[in-house]
Amino acid sequence: MSTMHSVHINQHGDSSLLAYTEAPKPVIKPDQILVKVAYAGVNFIDTYQRSGLYPQKFPFTLGREGSGEVVEIGSEVQGIDFKVGDRVVYLAPESYAEYTAMSPASVAKLPDAISLEKAAAVLLQGLTAWTLVTQAYKVEKGDWVLIHAAAGGMGLQLCQLCKQLGANVIGTTSTEAKAQLAMAHGADYVVNYSNGYDELVVKVNELTGNKGVHVAFDGVGASTFDVSLKVLRRLGSLISFGNASGAVPPISIMKLAEKNVRLMRPTLFNFFSTREEFVELCQGLFKLVEDGKLDVAIHKVYPIQDVRQAHDDLEGRKTTGKLVLKI
Ligand code: NDP
Repeated sequence: MSTMHSVHINQHGDSSLLAYTEAPKPVIKPDQILVKVAYAGVNFIDTYQRSGLYPQKFPFTLGREGSGEVVEIGSEVQGIDFKVGDRVVYLAPESYAEYTAMSPASVAKLPDAISLEKAAAVLLQGLTAWTLVTQAYKVEKGDWVLIHAAAGGMGLQLCQLCKQLGANVIGTTSTEAKAQLAMAHGADYVVNYSNGYDELVVKVNELTGNKGVHVAFDGVGASTFDVSLKVLRRLGSLISFGNASGAVPPISIMKLAEKNVRLMRPTLFNFFSTREEFVELCQGLFKLVEDGKLDVAIHKVYPIQDVRQAHDDLEGRKTTGKLVLKI
């Protein structure tokens, strides 16, 4: 059996479980490809899968996105536009590893202008931000939009896209430095929510003439869900797309009737179902990056051996923008 190194766990728990150790090298099935991984993006979902918020079977190899070089293509793989040696970016499990075996369904060939590092940094969050503002709630010119954790990986991408769509962007952050960064990426106003949400409610009312925002994009979850509902206007939309502060507890749908609001809990993986749809989304994203319309603010590229630190920094609210692991 040939071996490689990966970050895999045999139980759920904190970041002390994480280590880059020997594991079997994947053997592809006839309908799979093998990628030699160059970079893996770090996402909050990795922490949920590690901690057990999203329970997994063991042994479990972490990672949901990566970039690298195709080294093998199974005999039954069809309908692809890349070959062995090409640079690709992908959404698939087990990217915290030297090699990942995967179906080609969510693999896209990279344009020359986009580096492997940038590709792993932008794919998952960029596609999520793009589908949130075009499909979960179609952001329109003049809309009032609230973006929580506006200096985070998702936050900075959402700020840029909403601004380009002509929205008025209100962000929240926990520090002044994060507020400045969010404003440099398109937020018009930023409220510090580290001491509660009263100031946010006052600011939204003041800015919107007491009407509230058209849409709240909330990836913080448990701690912000109620205030997100509170600052929505009549017929507004709450897009609750994450749980950085913990999972949102169950609610009574009657709460939505108070202002006839819509509530959606989307995940990127259900905005496409075929390789064609995935590649089309990627091409749109690559164009935004190549045209300079979407800046990918990389917080830090960590050597894979420092994976524990990367999780601690992300969960400890010490980061802005995107974290990437170099394999
Ligand atoms: P971020 O870079 O945004 O980091 C999370 C940020 O949330 C922190 O920096 C912090 O910003 C804020 N935060 C508020 N409360 C807490 C808390 N108790 N613990 C930790 N952070 C807190 O992470 P990502 O961009 O990777 O992800 C943001 C959210 O988007 C996550 O919930 C993630 O699951 C979700 N997501 C969902 C996807 C989907 O398909 N539905 C896809 C991708 C991401 P501050 O200090 O300013 O408060």
